[in-house]
Amino acid sequence: MLSIGVIGGGQLGRMIALDAKRMGYHVIVLDPQEHSPCGQVADEQIVASYDDTAAIEDLGARTDLVTYEFENIAIASVQHLEERGYRITPSSNVLRVTQDRLLEKTFVRECGIATADFHGIDRIEDLAAAAMMVGFPAVMKTVRGGYDGKGQWRVQSLAEAKAAFSAARGVQVIFERFVPFVKELSVIATRNARDEVVTYPIAENEHENGILAMTLAPARITERLAGRAAQIAITIGRKLGIVGTYCVELFLTQNDELLVNELAPRPHNSGHYTIDAAQCSQYEQHIRAICELPLAQPRLLANAIMMNILGTGTGDRLDGVEKLLADPSIELHMYGKKHAVAQRKMGHFTMLLDGSIDDAAIKRAKAAHKQLRWVAAN
Ligand code: AMP
Repeated sequence: MLSIGVIGGGQLGRMIALDAKRMGYHVIVLDPQEHSPCGQVADEQIVASYDDTAAIEDLGARTDLVTYEFENIAIASVQHLEERGYRITPSSNVLRVTQDRLLEKTFVRECGIATADFHGIDRIEDLAAAAMMVGFPAVMKTVRGGYDGKGQWRVQSLAEAKAAFSAARGVQVIFERFVPFVKELSVIATRNARDEVVTYPIAENEHENGILAMTLAPARITERLAGRAAQIAITIGRKLGIVGTYCVELFLTQNDELLVNELAPRPHNSGHYTIDAAQCSQYEQHIRAICELPLAQPRLLANAIMMNILGTGTGDRLDGVEKLLADPSIELHMYGKKHAVAQRKMGHFTMLLDGSIDDAAIKRAKAAHKQLRWVAAN
């Protein structure tokens, strides 16, 4: 059986490893934090930083193929493996484009797909021209390294934009038109090297403080819009030549425009629901793709609501699990993280519905979530 190396030991790596283990693969993860969420379920963990090329090469030498679970790893690490003839998917070119918001949005536009208007800012003097071209309100984001709403500022005026640029401490930022969206959507898709692409039913996402809070699958949109969203994801996957599971995040506007906000070259939080609600999870599809296997049907077996369980900084023991699981339609997933730091993704649950997603179902999921509380361990 093949062995798979995973760079990054967080919850996405953990869920890749869980499916890989079920399918019989040997899994080695590389992460700087000992006993990481992925390390707990993998066969082995190499404890090293993501830019430690010797350790990365060791991972390549000890496995048949390598993948990564997040895009903020050093591109040099991926290139290093490629240059030495190790298999790493997705490629360094995919990583190069998706870890830079400017390159990513430019690439999407070159595919003939719409995004919010944007402008790159290198120096504070660039702001006035960007504001003229893009207008207010706007969102400023660091071009690299931001995630879960970090490195992001909403601005209403040039003065606020200047303050945000100073807060970004001189790194390159993207100045982007604020989109008054009616819904946020995401498409989870998987492409393999034979150019087969599958897309899961479009998901509808609700964020709080820039962090995903809830995903509804399928999204409450028309079939026509769902078809257009899926086509956008397929076009992007093919043009980028990505191999593996990836996610395209979209804004839906009042006049039914779809604007791409972000790409992720890996399984995505908004696809967690596929573990319990689909025939084959986004993680298994990822493994199939990187191992050059045929893809499975991305069939939804039940409508689903996924809710993230974030830390609150009030303690590390989760209270209320018994009450949550009193609802037999709920499946709980916890990531094995020790400290429930405020806003940290600690776990999620998926509620499988008998019927359609309506207000009553959403209310039921939110009420279930409210029963959970982080308390001090005793
Ligand atoms: P991002 O890191 O780009 O995924 O942004 C995180 C969240 O911030 C998104 O899911 C949106 O809720 C919000 N957001 C980001 N960019 C924009 C924008 N241009 N207009 C409106 N909301 C945005």
